[in-house]
Amino acid sequence: MPEVKSTCCYCGVGCGVVIEHDGRKITGVRGDPDHPANFGRLCTKGQTLHLSAGTSARVLFPELRRGKSGARVRATWEETLDYTAERFATIIRKHGPDAVAFYISGQLLTEDYYVFNKLAKGLIGTNNVDTNSRLCMSSAVAGYKATLGADAPPACYEDIAHTDCLFISGSNTAFAHPILYRRIEDARRANPNLKTIVVDPRRTDTAREADLHLAILPGTDVALCNGMLHVLVWEGLCNADYIRNHTEGFEAIRETVREYTPVAVSEICGVPAEDIVKAAKWFAESKATLSLYCQGLNQSSNGTQNNAAVINLHLATAQIGRPGAGPFSLTGQPNAMGGREVGGMANLLSAHRDLANLQHRAEVAKLWGLPDVPARPGKTAVELFDAVRTGEIKAVWIACTNPAQSMPDAGPVCEALAKAELVVLQEAFANTDTARYADVLLPATTWGEKEGTVTNSERRITRVRAAIPPHRKSLHDWAIARDFALALGEKLGRAEDAKRLFNYPTAESVFNEHRETTRGRDLDITGMSYAMLENDGPQQWPLAEGETTGKVRLYEDGRFPTPSGRARFADTKYRPTAEKTDARHPLHFNTGRLRDQWHGMSRTGRVARLYNHVDEPVLAMHTRDMERRSLKDGDIVRVSSRRGSIAVRAAASDEMRPGQTFLAMHWGSQFMNSAGANALTIPAVDPVSKQPELKHAAVQVEKLELPWQLVIMRMVSAEEAPRLLAGVQPRLAGFGYATAGLFGRDDPAVILRAASAAPMTDAALAELDDLFRFNNARCMVYRDARRGISKRIMVEAGRVTAVRLTGETAARDWLKEVMIEHTSAEAVRRWVLAPVSTLPAAISSTRGRIVCNCLNVSESEIMAEVAQGADLPALQGKLKCGTSCGSCVPELKRMVAMRKAA
Ligand code: SF4
Repeated sequence: MPEVKSTCCYCGVGCGVVIEHDGRKITGVRGDPDHPANFGRLCTKGQTLHLSAGTSARVLFPELRRGKSGARVRATWEETLDYTAERFATIIRKHGPDAVAFYISGQLLTEDYYVFNKLAKGLIGTNNVDTNSRLCMSSAVAGYKATLGADAPPACYEDIAHTDCLFISGSNTAFAHPILYRRIEDARRANPNLKTIVVDPRRTDTAREADLHLAILPGTDVALCNGMLHVLVWEGLCNADYIRNHTEGFEAIRETVREYTPVAVSEICGVPAEDIVKAAKWFAESKATLSLYCQGLNQSSNGTQNNAAVINLHLATAQIGRPGAGPFSLTGQPNAMGGREVGGMANLLSAHRDLANLQHRAEVAKLWGLPDVPARPGKTAVELFDAVRTGEIKAVWIACTNPAQSMPDAGPVCEALAKAELVVLQEAFANTDTARYADVLLPATTWGEKEGTVTNSERRITRVRAAIPPHRKSLHDWAIARDFALALGEKLGRAEDAKRLFNYPTAESVFNEHRETTRGRDLDITGMSYAMLENDGPQQWPLAEGETTGKVRLYEDGRFPTPSGRARFADTKYRPTAEKTDARHPLHFNTGRLRDQWHGMSRTGRVARLYNHVDEPVLAMHTRDMERRSLKDGDIVRVSSRRGSIAVRAAASDEMRPGQTFLAMHWGSQFMNSAGANALTIPAVDPVSKQPELKHAAVQVEKLELPWQLVIMRMVSAEEAPRLLAGVQPRLAGFGYATAGLFGRDDPAVILRAASAAPMTDAALAELDDLFRFNNARCMVYRDARRGISKRIMVEAGRVTAVRLTGETAARDWLKEVMIEHTSAEAVRRWVLAPVSTLPAAISSTRGRIVCNCLNVSESEIMAEVAQGADLPALQGKLKCGTSCGSCVPELKRMVAMRKAA
């Protein structure tokens, strides 16, 4: 079977993959043993990439809606680009270049990013080009620049093996960066003295395994770091030589932290004062301290200061520029780094240049052969959609992202998309929440079809390679932007300019131009080429012309890319979260990631087994908060903020502090009857980075009385699953509560769970039966009209292939397993329509959640062994769980520990 080396398209770890294919279809994937990010390992998401590569629910050809009403219709690329260019040109002529905007994505490749950036800033003359990286990494960028002088993570993955103290802040690494977490596990095994401090309001799997968990209150990170710095100053643990020789600004922050005594900080953060002292001492006294941080610091209205406050600790203790030491921001998306490198944001220019810098603008204009590039600041993500809503921006072009779901306070964003004169969406998948607003839908290539490069969290650039040709009429993202630029150039009377600016026959030609823009910059990659990346493997930047390898870690000589050559302490001050809790909204609402899902699930949501760990959106709450509201696990609740409300099930979680709630950010209106978490979040942003505060809102939780319940399940083929889900999607809004998804393993099934105040009509139920292809002739039917109960079980080839339960749905989990396990319908025939309370235990017991997705090992199987005294090695020996990708190992350890504690 032919194979191609490429990268995983999910998180910023940037694991290398080997894609197996038959020239037409992707047939398998495995970790690339030679890739320095993962050395052959993949997590649950990476291991199932090939299962997400089916072609159903892909955008197949360009579609066009002329005018605001009516449906989109199929069109050719030529007429679509001609129409779109004409609309853009008309708007630009009438309202100026800032009346159009581009909103792109950290999922794009560096080459895609580069062409979009040049299209906006070079050809059109607007800086209105921003990206979903604004929601992810912009506070890390601003934090690095404010302190170290450049947007360059100074450390690398290898440092995990060299550190003696890991300070993990605002990162559930075990879930969000699993392959990095495997390195942390390796480092612990190799160095039993390694101390781990985790700062997180939640007791995540990452926090549970720490030597010290600081469960701070949301948004109090600066207070904690200032408190730690206070301890360092007053206990004489700062490195005076390093501060004197390599930094500036220490006096101001030393004065500021005077007030941040451990006792005062303990009050603000809600953690014991002695733990703050302990953390500070471990940080300073360790031979090498490495900080890993992510969205918990970044997604905050104080995100820049959160990042800078951690970096202050490193500068004060000289924990930087040595093996195992440094502040290391983990990138959320696979190529947020690449986007930053080409300046694909509203405030940046190519090669880490700043838009606000006159000389940088002149350099870019010269490189592009233009008289100038625009100086007016572009709109950042939240500002951009606000300007679309008010009509200041008339046309918005969205590429490879789903703002209708992922932007905070999704309601006004959807309003903006509905009101815009023109919405262009360039996408691989047809069913995202944003797709319904698109006037122009452009089919883009996706993972396995694309060519280019990406940069991972440790500044390492890898070649992304195509295994199979583009699907149907799809084009590469950079090529779409190029072709549009050529069409727009003609409409604007600048055809020759456009031909010169966008003379890109291949992705490599784009890379080569980008490479030249980095000459002499901090990220100089003039020594790199496609050939080098292919022959010698992935490379870290900087790697200037004449050099043969990149720089493993930065600032080893204590010199920083600032005018003085010194790093700058930031004078960080604690500011509370933007939104306060009060009597009407008394609970903190936090968002984050699950282990087995990615972003808005447009890809992972197509893989049945990725639902087996967590199968629907659930609000995690503290037991006390549930008791106060008379809630029990599984009750449907309304979660309301000052902006909107959603209906989800609630469950008690020992991860939560009292007064706090958590909901995964993955589910949107493709899979539930609301926009999900972002119906509740706030649009407040950090004043410097403009990154929104996605990690905190104030909410209320109340029980929802929805007595009429419905569950429908249908076995389908892998190709049919996304199509049936797409058919279910428009019906979700008709229920008080509804979620849809998949379950199963090799043979997927679609599931719809819904509840309402009143029963559905027979006609509405019949419509659902049609959609789920219930065939009366093959159905067992039970109906009790008086009690509002009806059951339909469809049997084909001796197996249960579809189930519809209304009124009484308690048998759903058992029937789900009957379907998954292909249990003979004959064996369960007499029970399938019986009340669940009458079922013998042996029949009705279920396996429960699948904890180890690779080896298909369930919670009940693991707990049965744990109850017999099994520890982790025994579980791995007998059940084999946790012996493949390792993503479930932290959870297995937790299960063993819980049993020991009981
Ligand atoms: Fe992909 Fe998992 Fe590696 Fe992230 S850790 S790049 S999701 S395989």
